Amino acid sequence: MDRICVHALVVRETETGDYDKILTLVTEEHGKLTVTGKGVKSLKSPHLVACQPFAYSTFVLKKSRKFWYIEESENIEDFYGIRNDLDRLSLSAYVCDVLEYVTVESSPEPELLRLALNTLYAISARRDIPLSRIKAAFELRCAAECGFCPELSVCDVCQKELSGDVYLDVMNGRLLCPECKPRAEKEEEMIEGTARLYYIITADVLNAMRYIVGAQRSKLLAFSLDEDGQYLLSKVCEGYLINHLEHSFSTLEFYKSILL
Ligand SMILES: [Zn+2]
Repeated sequence: MDRICVHALVVRETETGDYDKILTLVTEEHGKLTVTGKGVKSLKSPHLVACQPFAYSTFVLKKSRKFWYIEESENIEDFYGIRNDLDRLSLSAYVCDVLEYVTVESSPEPELLRLALNTLYAISARRDIPLSRIKAAFELRCAAECGFCPELSVCDVCQKELSGDVYLDVMNGRLLCPECKPRAEKEEEMIEGTARLYYIITADVLNAMRYIVGAQRSKLLAFSLDEDGQYLLSKVCEGYLINHLEHSFSTLEFYKSILL
């Protein structure tokens, strides 16, 4: 296998020399791949558009001495609208960073790649949807696709249906009703070294979270919340993903800093 054709999103570029780049691709077929693009930075290069950050492209790659080189390329989608605003650009950088972090070589994750592509499309083209909703839906669905899907049906201790405000126990990915929370928290405290993080969530936010983990990917953003609900959803979904990945992203910090 020294020549392959892949569909890939460019999630990172590192400039090497005047005209060359090393690209990190998340491919549909082979997971994450690092490839060398000789001369692709040149304005005359036929690979210029396909090799840009955030570009979704097809590539023919050739392997030589352990390294992959770009032989042919064709851009499918460049998500042009991302580049219109700094907040859109920096949110897209965070989405690509998360995708890069959760994927590995030789292990295709087509669902995660599709989620990232749909998210970039929404950031680029859906001016009717607030960025905070796009970001929150990406974060929670990404956590779910990575195997951290929270159990959002009933209280995990008493199994009762929930109404009104409830607690999301982030590290255990479960809900607790107000009656069961103090006892569950005490039990948790007895296990040394356990990280604990609880959010109080309203019925509206819980419904939005249930929608995000269960909706068809193409309809992921078809929900709405009032301003307070959206604020809480944003906080919870970000906290949920970041705490499960146990990783912080400088692109996330930058995105939040420009919103201040
Ligand atoms: Zn309970």
